[in-house]
Amino acid sequence: MSIRVTVWGENVHEQKNKVVAQVYPDTMHGTIAAALNRAGGITARTATLQEPEHGLTPETLAATDVLIWWGHAAHGEVADAVVDRVCEAVWGGMGMIFLHSAHFAKPFKRLMGAPCNLTWREAGERERLWVTSRQHPIAAGLPDHFELEHEEMYGEPFGVPEPLETVFISWFAGGEVFRSGLTYRRGAGNLFYFRPGHETYPTYHDANVQRVIANAVRWAHNPAARIADPGAAPNRPVDAALEPITERGPRLHHDGEEGYR
Ligand code: ZN
Repeated sequence: MSIRVTVWGENVHEQKNKVVAQVYPDTMHGTIAAALNRAGGITARTATLQEPEHGLTPETLAATDVLIWWGHAAHGEVADAVVDRVCEAVWGGMGMIFLHSAHFAKPFKRLMGAPCNLTWREAGERERLWVTSRQHPIAAGLPDHFELEHEEMYGEPFGVPEPLETVFISWFAGGEVFRSGLTYRRGAGNLFYFRPGHETYPTYHDANVQRVIANAVRWAHNPAARIADPGAAPNRPVDAALEPITERGPRLHHDGEEGYR
């Protein structure tokens, strides 16, 4: 059974910037989806900011095992209702991969609960990614290290919570380092942040980068049924307790009440 992926692209610079349009004539999200469709066992489609509900309707998310997110110039244009919906899907078990400048995407910041800030420099410098977790499935089939000749620098400190696992660390020609492959679990959802992918460089055409993203899709996929209402907080009345108990003292709530939010 194929893993169903939706690659979400902001699709702004591909339309407005000639350099980006030349590097990605099929758009970044289109390039990533095509690579995933060649990887085996994955069926990838795309969605963009400009579509109704940004292409992320409840039906689309219900049919998405892993959502990939690339955004940069238009984070603020993403509707909060869609952000809520995406986070609910993650908490219910949908896998999610955030790429590059998605470190400032609304759903990433919500799921991290942290500033997600970093230092940066756009100088087309060499990035060397080191595998720091050799047996990790996201690093399967990769060499100990690989290089991207032209990339934007992201440097530490990266304002995210301590991850479950660090799969890659990047070194940049200018001297900075960065934790460039990080795993998290939020609710029942597996999350992966992967650093490379500045839009003026051909990063998503790189075979190692494509392998990382395909590996991350397989790692993030949770085959269990999606939890329908992962934010539910039901009241358990006294008479429904597993052991018999006697109610004591004054109380605020009625049995079965919704409770405050
Ligand atoms: Zn960038």
